[in-house]
Amino acid sequence: MIHDWMKRDSKGRFIRFRQIWSLETFDDAIFKKGIGRYVVYLPGHHRANGGGYVLRAIAAYEAYTGDIVTKEFEIHHKYENKGNDTRENLEKLTKSQHRKVHQPKDLVELICDYCHQKYIRSRFRVRDRLKMMEEGLPVKFFCSQKCYQDCGRSEDTKRKMSESGKRSHAGGKRKVMQKRKVI
Ligand SMILES: [Zn+2]
Ligand SMILES: [Zn+2]
Repeated sequence: MIHDWMKRDSKGRFIRFRQIWSLETFDDAIFKKGIGRYVVYLPGHHRANGGGYVLRAIAAYEAYTGDIVTKEFEIHHKYENKGNDTRENLEKLTKSQHRKVHQPKDLVELICDYCHQKYIRSRFRVRDRLKMMEEGLPVKFFCSQKCYQDCGRSEDTKRKMSESGKRSHAGGKRKVMQKRKVI
């Protein structure tokens, strides 16, 4: 949602202000049904349209990385969901690279490291990880962004559990009793 507000200028006239988008106001966005993507208000942005709107994927990628997405480049949504502009879902590609990603000829079957299901990807899309694998580097494959996140979360929990196990339990749990007001 875009937040508008009214403010008086020096002559007492009402003028309309519109919130300028930033990562802090990530959800201040308009969903464009036709393209299935979010746009945000960022007048003066190098890729903004006449009305001052730009694709959130572009604005967010630039904000996350500091890397400018000039006209020769496009932002690809790695896990297919074009409405999801979180960091791990975005990848900067040239137009021709992007076309290859969406016209898969050379497919590869992978197994998700989290849910262990088989899934298919174009070899081009996972080229970096396949190369790492050939070089013997540790690399993980995920069928969906959900699996990627859940895997990160479960590893986090495992680490926390082993850490808390090492700690000695000085002092038991303290129950905080709250007095309830009787009306
Ligand atoms: Zn794409
Ligand atoms: Zn999975």
